[in-house]
Amino acid sequence: MKIDIPDSVKYIIAQLEDAGYEAWAVGGCVRDSLMGREPKDWDITTSALPEQTKGIFRRTIDTGIAHGTVTVMLDGIGYETTTYRIDGKYSDSRHPDSIEFTRSLNEDLKRRDFTINAMAYSDTKGLVDLFGGASDLKNRIIRCVGDPSERFAEDALRILRAIRFSAQLGFEVDPHTMKAAARLRNKLKKISAERIHSELDKTLMSPHPDKFRLIHSSGIDGVILPELADRIQKDPSLLKKLCDTLLSAPQNGHIRWAALISISGGSIDILKRLKFDNNSLHIISELLRLEKTPLTGLSDAEMRHVMNNAGAAGMPLLFDYRQTMYPDTDLTASKEQYGAILKRGECTCIKDLAVNGRDLLGVGVPSGADVGNMLRLLLKAVLDDPSLNKKELLLEKAVQIRG
Ligand code: ATP
Ligand code: MG
Repeated sequence: MKIDIPDSVKYIIAQLEDAGYEAWAVGGCVRDSLMGREPKDWDITTSALPEQTKGIFRRTIDTGIAHGTVTVMLDGIGYETTTYRIDGKYSDSRHPDSIEFTRSLNEDLKRRDFTINAMAYSDTKGLVDLFGGASDLKNRIIRCVGDPSERFAEDALRILRAIRFSAQLGFEVDPHTMKAAARLRNKLKKISAERIHSELDKTLMSPHPDKFRLIHSSGIDGVILPELADRIQKDPSLLKKLCDTLLSAPQNGHIRWAALISISGGSIDILKRLKFDNNSLHIISELLRLEKTPLTGLSDAEMRHVMNNAGAAGMPLLFDYRQTMYPDTDLTASKEQYGAILKRGECTCIKDLAVNGRDLLGVGVPSGADVGNMLRLLLKAVLDDPSLNKKELLLEKAVQIRG
């Protein structure tokens, strides 16, 4: 079996070998190469201790020295180079209490999560596949290295990683592995919101987001997404709706999360719990708020009001979200109408008005809240009738309204 390793990775491996150590490409890059996919990055595992690795290469970064990881920099690209290690006991369901460096590649491969992620490769020595990873790749199966119950009890994040890889690769989770994941699901309570968010996000954004089905069938949703679990329990047809919707949705995080939240009952508490950043929280809330705003059969004035109201989400995203949630709606005419308004350059927000706050102060509008209120009144008039968007007309109107 031959894998096409980039020259830089060959160089790092050769340098380590020349210095008397073992070194291999390992994990995701071997998996992706064997599948004919371009690896995102190349990780290296070596018998050299971190200090020894640092002594060999000119530019290195101490990425996680305590865990044995040094990033070797070549031509501006970083290669994580990690010392063979054995993870000690896990008492918090996530991190080993201690780690130990070892001289044995086999020990290092044993600590890895899934068979497809536990293969090592070097050009000189070929593929090391102790747990049947290549055969699981061929049969498209996610299977734990060793006893799945032990592995999930050690680190519960692996439960979500199993489902995430199944969604990214379109693989089945081996039944024993899946059963153990379901049995140990409560351990996910120990996992940080950020890590859960990241795995769920990768699952939602994958080519097979309908693998979300596994999160429900295993009862994992009861632990991390109780709102969704409750809704599906009350109306089991929602599971199919969720999977179909996610599958047909464009690969956009705001749309896919909004769809998930909508089907879970519409509360953004889920996003807050998962520590979403404020910008995403805002955009997804806007999509949910506008979920039922009419978009078809509108007058131009009504469309301009919707455009103004779409705010941070913006019309293209709103159209995509609507199409995702209501696939039978024909939005062609509405999109054309929206495009025509844009093309005519009509004002749809305060900053497009022909007057600004200073202009209003100039005609005697008192400073403070009155300025903003007046701008909003003028905008409403201009949304209804774009021909009013001229400075003299608007100032005249402002005086009239005040007077
Ligand atoms: P991706 O393409 O998503 O980066 P990856 O396989 O490279 O996939 P990483 O999270 O980058 O995944 O981890 C690199 C390797 O480290 C994995 O292939 C696996 O061997 C090991 N690994 C990562 N996380 C765990 C874990 N929680 N438990 C055991 N092994 C892990
Ligand atoms: Mg990786």
